[in-house]
Amino acid sequence: MKDVCFCDETFEILVEAEVSADPIWCNKCKANLDLDELPISEELKAELYEWNSTFSNHLASHNYNGITQSFSEWLNASGENLTKKLSAELTNTYVIQYHPYESIIKEK
Ligand SMILES: [Zn+2]
Repeated sequence: MKDVCFCDETFEILVEAEVSADPIWCNKCKANLDLDELPISEELKAELYEWNSTFSNHLASHNYNGITQSFSEWLNASGENLTKKLSAELTNTYVIQYHPYESIIKEK
């Protein structure tokens, strides 16, 4: 993709859940990217939006202190799965990496 971040052109994408921003980043300059810039299906975009908003809601309901162990397992397994789907849709031109979310709250 051209002119979407601080690089002239990037084909390195990082997937990481984020509050109030799309969950994709340039893996070179770390700029947050707009999901709409990615040449992927509407279906996969919707899945990524939903995954990210589930994360935001969970974080908000724990006063932004972190996420629980069981939620982190779900988040990271789903994140890996979405990253695989992205790689499949974006073919070999792009290198996609998933960054797991680790801030864990102890469950009572
Ligand atoms: Zn960049």
